[in-house]
Amino acid sequence: MRKNIVAGNWKMNTTVPEGVALAKEVNEALKGADKKCDVVICVPFTHLVSVADVIDQNVLGLGAENCADHKSGAYTGEVSAPMVASTGAKYVILGHSERRQYYGETAETLREKVALALENGLTPIFCIGEVLEERENGTYNEVVKAQIVDALFNLSAEDFGKLVLAYEPVWAIGTGKTATAEQAEDMHAHIRAVIAEKYGKEVADNTSILYGGSCKPSNAAELFAKPNVDGGLIGGAALKCADFMGIVNAF
Ligand code: PEP
Repeated sequence: MRKNIVAGNWKMNTTVPEGVALAKEVNEALKGADKKCDVVICVPFTHLVSVADVIDQNVLGLGAENCADHKSGAYTGEVSAPMVASTGAKYVILGHSERRQYYGETAETLREKVALALENGLTPIFCIGEVLEERENGTYNEVVKAQIVDALFNLSAEDFGKLVLAYEPVWAIGTGKTATAEQAEDMHAHIRAVIAEKYGKEVADNTSILYGGSCKPSNAAELFAKPNVDGGLIGGAALKCADFMGIVNAF
């Protein structure tokens, strides 16, 4: 059965000492908490080794926010999936809209990244989502379907089953404008139907689909109550332990 997951995406925030302190605080808060979901923090590359040292990954999973589309070699400034895995991290966010928008990530590069992440035992948290114009002109279902088909449908059913998906309407990321619980549920049900069409109902039912976009303690419970919403990918609210825990406790 699919898991409920709350994953933090710290983006380009915190220095290493600040990040280590925040990770420790979250880890402490989770110990002994009666949590009803898996909890993960995805942190900048520079933080992975130090954060891995101070958290118990049975309590709090660790992930990166990206990885390279090559295994090794002359790619100055890049960080590969084997490097991420060697830090002890178990997850990697791939295809975040900020990476698609600012760094030109395409379905082709994402296919390579997903393959390398899986080869190295990392669980991709794969992001999809439409921009405001696509929401307003009604093409959002096709847009999201194409993102899934183009980057992921080369995978075997076994490999597809290792992914976590995150639906993040771009118009809701960092804007304070959350999708309504109904909009999220409709899209998550659509995504599950798209998966079922290709891989069958069992794979679709077992895929965790997270919602991301201005999720906070005040709206998380309503979103997570929807049958096809299996948790959240959390940006801004993951940077304060109390807010992040408020979302974790919304389950
Ligand atoms: C994100 O960037 O993945 C995200 C969901 O950000 P925020 O929660 O800040 O909207």
